[in-house]
Amino acid sequence: MPIKPRRTQRPETADDGQVRVRLSRVRLWLVDLDDTIFNASAGMLAAIHRRMEQYIGRRLDLPPQQAVRLQKDYWRTYGATFVGLQRHHGVAPDEFFEATHGFDLQPYLKTVTGAQRLRAVLARLPGRRVVLTNGPRIYAEGVLRGLRLRGVFDGVVSANDMHICGKWRSKPDPILFAHAAHAFGARPCETCFIDDSPANLAAARALGMAAVWCRGYRNDKPATAAHPWADLVVDNLDALAAELGRRPRGRAG
Ligand SMILES: [Mg+2]
Repeated sequence: MPIKPRRTQRPETADDGQVRVRLSRVRLWLVDLDDTIFNASAGMLAAIHRRMEQYIGRRLDLPPQQAVRLQKDYWRTYGATFVGLQRHHGVAPDEFFEATHGFDLQPYLKTVTGAQRLRAVLARLPGRRVVLTNGPRIYAEGVLRGLRLRGVFDGVVSANDMHICGKWRSKPDPILFAHAAHAFGARPCETCFIDDSPANLAAARALGMAAVWCRGYRNDKPATAAHPWADLVVDNLDALAAELGRRPRGRAG
């Protein structure tokens, strides 16, 4: 039997055969918002972090440097700043969400290009499509409305929805992931998780979800060539659509 030459210029995959099988089973797509659906690192995230630091300084009466450190510590430890503030300082998440995300998003969204193409790309993902973001609902809905993407999603799981089993649980808490899949009628093995964060992807993958690393917008791309947290690595959702179009799908379920 002749040996076919390997294709080149393909997204990196953990194992082509396994990935093909895993993606063919997907009936729920959990899609991150910042740096996955759009390039939040281009300005939006910096605007939010500034507001977080100012809020923490005011609310906890801390000098700016300590407020910055605390914000980063809680973000690293819990995946979302609001979880640390609630657990350690009793800060009500709703108060934090309004103070840090209740601003005009439009100046940051108007620089996003390709939203129409992205809408078509997302609409082609077969099955249910749900945004899963550690950002609050006012922010997630504002971004989706601004980019005219709300109609292609079946739901949004935001920070406001993350009080589960008696605790606030943001990504990468596996209980949140399992809860989200169940809420939208899929088992973890029928769910594909798309995110820019290796920690989030690793947690989803450990549960049995397929994991797609969308790394093109990150400012801090890990240098390693090995990606144990991802079944598939793409620069953006356009590249994921191209890859899925290349793969024959099996029957769902
Ligand atoms: Mg993200």
